[in-house]
Amino acid sequence: MKWTQTLIPTLREAPSDAEIVSHKLLLRAGLIRKLAGGVYTFLPLGLRALRKVEQIIREEMDRAGAIEVLMPALQPPEIWQQSGRYETAGNVLFKLKDSGNREWLLSPTAEEVITTLAANEINSYRQLPKNFYQISVKFRDEIRPRFGLMRAKEFIMKDAYSFDTTDEGAMAAYKKMYDAYTRIFARCGLKTFPVEADTGVIGGNYSHEFMVPAETGENEVAFCEACGYAANIEKATSGIPKTAAREIGGAIEKFATPGAVTIEALSKEPYKVPANRQIKTLVYIADSKPILILIRGDDQLNETKLLAKTGAVAARPATPGEIYALLGAHPGSLGAVSLTLKFKLMDRREYFDELKNLGLIVAKGEIQVLADERLRGANGMTTGANEDGYHLRNVSMERDIKVTAWFDLRTVTAGEPCAKCGKPLKIRRAIEVGHVFKLGTKYSEKLNATFLDVDGSRKPSVMGCYGIGVTRTMQAVIEQGNDKDGVIWPLSVAPYQVCITPLAVAPKSQVMQLAEKIYAELTAKGVDVILDDRDERPGVKFKDSELVGFPIRIGIGEKSLAKGEVEIKPRNGVLQPIKSEDTVPAVMRLLEENMAK
Ligand SMILES: [Zn+2]
Repeated sequence: MKWTQTLIPTLREAPSDAEIVSHKLLLRAGLIRKLAGGVYTFLPLGLRALRKVEQIIREEMDRAGAIEVLMPALQPPEIWQQSGRYETAGNVLFKLKDSGNREWLLSPTAEEVITTLAANEINSYRQLPKNFYQISVKFRDEIRPRFGLMRAKEFIMKDAYSFDTTDEGAMAAYKKMYDAYTRIFARCGLKTFPVEADTGVIGGNYSHEFMVPAETGENEVAFCEACGYAANIEKATSGIPKTAAREIGGAIEKFATPGAVTIEALSKEPYKVPANRQIKTLVYIADSKPILILIRGDDQLNETKLLAKTGAVAARPATPGEIYALLGAHPGSLGAVSLTLKFKLMDRREYFDELKNLGLIVAKGEIQVLADERLRGANGMTTGANEDGYHLRNVSMERDIKVTAWFDLRTVTAGEPCAKCGKPLKIRRAIEVGHVFKLGTKYSEKLNATFLDVDGSRKPSVMGCYGIGVTRTMQAVIEQGNDKDGVIWPLSVAPYQVCITPLAVAPKSQVMQLAEKIYAELTAKGVDVILDDRDERPGVKFKDSELVGFPIRIGIGEKSLAKGEVEIKPRNGVLQPIKSEDTVPAVMRLLEENMAK
């Protein structure tokens, strides 16, 4: 490709709304352009890199025995209602109406479509196992698109869905995809690490995410260097000890705490109750039902765990109005000590009518109290009295609070002991580029994807689903590979592997003739080459070549050519003068060495 024939609009400065380095470089190197928030055009070089990532994915999926299909981006809502996800995924679903006022959805993922296909086309165990994949445009109604391709409204995803006759078969399919993902990211030059993950709205019971370590990542990962344990913070657990037991120390005592409405205020003079001796009481509304959540004063609630453990579709903190109606006190003075709970004592129907008017579903005497495992057996604790300005001390979890269920609900923090080996956990930020889920029969049961087994019985297929954010992976490659001058592409996904930079571009000049000759020879050898035939100052050409990040640059100038030399500069290495007739073999050697890495 000749530079002047394509479009590479490099920029000196990134637009001010680009926050992270990879987003800035995507724009500065002329790889993408924004049309609207979260919606981008791929320019020629960006598209070339993207296609190379896609090709690596395609080759490895094919190698793993998956078969490529292409499903529609436009989906009927009925199948989403059938799977139960119309509501649960509702906040990210793009919905639109056609001229006949019929509703459609823009595909964020395709479990429903592929399971419907399997329900119609797969009837016998003889047709299984199967793993279908596609690489296609997906949509997400992101309220706050950001970081370029990282969190966009429209993006490209590879999604795959496996169907098996047994659980063991499904695990084998999962393992195959796990291994294929490891190869895919390695071939893209990306350092990734797999972590245990929450299964979220997709459902299922086994899941890993592939993470790229990056300070700008939107995920947090807890990991142990000693034993290799790694999990998304949404799912991570630790071996942190339970709250130390104390002497029960007599009956509950109420004491005045005017104005002290935070854990911190209560830990200071004159009360001096350490945070780890306080019970924090949170009120959440989970699927219209209020629940009380108890965690230790120095811990934080993990909302993802709350959803996972309760099976609730949605949960949000209750409003101060709802809290007052429920407990008769404001945040800062709340507690779950049985005797202080208003809804247990209330006999009046109007009280429950009032809650109903707020949209809350509460039966008399019935509200769930969920407590974090770390509080189990704790006593000598302090908590709110459900009366503004008062707290209770000498509270015993066992004696004084009726806990409906105990769960691990807290977020782990750095330094806590690993649950597996006891060494301190670390926490780092990361970008999720892929995920693998074992789904089980959740979708096949709801959408009737069944098969006749060898014994003549009809069974639901056991499914798995496997995603890779293709556009996000491409950006992650840049986030991981860059320096102050620009992008550092790995050879495998670089838009062009070699950039020839003649410093004099007059046609028929000796410099240009050599440039054309090397260009033709490398192209004939199957190398992706771009020839910078712009009539620009050397400084501009070198800067652009470094900014776009071509892995190898061949500089040809009149002065060095007079000595019979050209200059080869690997993007990530030092400039080497070389005899002009050795250029092509030298470049081929460099390419081979780098490909092998
Ligand atoms: Zn460990």
